[in-house]
Amino acid sequence: MPDRGPWTSVEELAREVKGCRIPLNRPRPVEEAISSAGGVHWSELDERLMIKKLPGIYLAGEMIDWEAPTGGYLLQACFATGSYVGKMAGGSSREFE
Ligand SMILES: Cc1cc2nc3c(=O)[nH]c(=O)nc-3n(C[C@H](O)[C@H](O)[C@H](O)COP(=O)(O)OP(=O)(O)OC[C@H]3O[C@@H](n4cnc5c(N)ncnc54)[C@H](O)[C@@H]3O)c2cc1C
Repeated sequence: MPDRGPWTSVEELAREVKGCRIPLNRPRPVEEAISSAGGVHWSELDERLMIKKLPGIYLAGEMIDWEAPTGGYLLQACFATGSYVGKMAGGSSREFE
C-alpha cells in the first residue's frame, strides 16, 4: 500500500477519499444478509402494530425487530408496515385491503 498523506489541502484529501477503492473478493452468502438487528419485539405489538403497553403509539419499519435474513427486502417491509400503520393509526379497521 502506498504512503498516505500528509495532505497539503482539503481538496487533495477529498480527491484521495473519493478515489479510495475497496476491493470486493466475493459476496457473503444470502443466509448472512442480516439487514438489521434489534428493535421492539413483535410480541410487544398488537395486530395493528400498536404497542400493547403504550396504546396509541404505532411502530413501523426499523423500529420493529426484523432480525432475520431479509436479503435486501427490508425497504419493502418498511414501506409495507409504514403504509399499514398509517391506515391503522388513521382509524381504519381493515387490516389488509
Ligand atoms: C447504507 C445502507 C444501505 C441499505 N441498503 C438496503 C437495500 O439495498 N435494501 C433494503 O431493503 N434495505 C436497505 N437498507 C436498509 C433500509 O434503508 C432501512 O431498513 C430503511 O430505510 C428503514 O426505514 P425506516 O423508515 O424504518 O427508517 P428511516 O429510513 O431511518 O427513516 C426514519 C426517519 O425518521 C426521521 N427522524 C428521526 N428522528 C426524528 C425526529 N425526532 N423527528 C422527526 N423525524 C425524525 C429521520 O430523519 C428519517 O427520515 C440499507 C440501509 C443502509 C444504511
